Amino acid sequence: MPLFDNHNRPINYLRLAVTDRCNLRCFYCMPEEGIHYLPKKELLTYEEIIRLVRLLAVHGVSKIRLTGGEPFVRADLMDLIRNITDLPGIKELHLTTNGILTAPHIPELKKLGLASVNLSLDTLDRERFKLITRRDEAERVKETYDLLLKHGIPVKINAVVMEGKNIEDIISLVELTRTQPVSVRFIEEMPFNGEGSHYTSLAWTYKKIIDHIRLHYPALEKITDPENSTAYHYRIPGYKGNIGIIAAFSRTFCGTCNRIRITAQGELKTCLYDDGVLNMKHLLRSGVSDAELMNELLKAFAHRAKDGFEAEQKRKNHQPAHESMSTIGG
Ligand code: SAM
Repeated sequence: MPLFDNHNRPINYLRLAVTDRCNLRCFYCMPEEGIHYLPKKELLTYEEIIRLVRLLAVHGVSKIRLTGGEPFVRADLMDLIRNITDLPGIKELHLTTNGILTAPHIPELKKLGLASVNLSLDTLDRERFKLITRRDEAERVKETYDLLLKHGIPVKINAVVMEGKNIEDIISLVELTRTQPVSVRFIEEMPFNGEGSHYTSLAWTYKKIIDHIRLHYPALEKITDPENSTAYHYRIPGYKGNIGIIAAFSRTFCGTCNRIRITAQGELKTCLYDDGVLNMKHLLRSGVSDAELMNELLKAFAHRAKDGFEAEQKRKNHQPAHESMSTIGG
């Protein structure tokens, strides 16, 4: 039986942040310095993750995404990937990565049947890449991108759209879809920057991003969105790839949200904008049975916020969302 929440939305997709550590310092995600990484014992162990994924898979969760921090920064990530792909009921394993340490693993990821990679890339310009990520790593990301395409692993590029930072990159990123079977997704910037800085309006909303692209490509056409997609999909006639626009700040997609998250600290989030509704790490380490564990999960799913606005209002710390996305995973 699939799991449903209190708003009758199916829950079949788990996004897991395997670490809070990252080898980039994207300004919209993390402060440059003064970051307190979690000690290793505060992360869920691979055994704990497998127990949880196995249990959720029995109850109909069939899609997993590993993210972080940067997932490949965690030691032996490939062991976890091999184990997850072996679990009955898991139909799709996806990864979100910045691509810096990813390339050597691509042949094995292909063999393991990895469903897709979301590659974060906000600009194709090396200097702007340095300014945004505070690291000079654009070449290695490009190498990963090329290898993923060469191995036929479906690629989605994630680009956060930021006033004054990468607006000039929107069209060059769209141009990748001319000859390559890639999905380029433009994401509204969210306040998850770890800085405590908050904003109530956004310069580059999903509508403005679409208008900007349409201005350059009047033939831009809307295409059907996959079920439960958070992106509005478009394509340019004759181009091989497509474009996705993700209204992550405007939160227009909550009505069909099928996803739950587990943060690097082991907190269950039933909405990106909540501040954790169940501490899985404490629960897993308290000696509970699988039945008790599942019972706690079901209770959390039965109290899920209707949308990201309600979730943000209900935060226990009464602070608007501001924590670093590196602990949540996107
Ligand atoms: N390190 C991996 C990577 O770079 O893809 C995975 C983790 S990263 C936190 C996941 C995604 O979150 C990236 O695509 C990143 O661009 C996005 N992200 C981080 N902070 C964000 C923010 N403030 N607003 C919108 N997206 C954000």
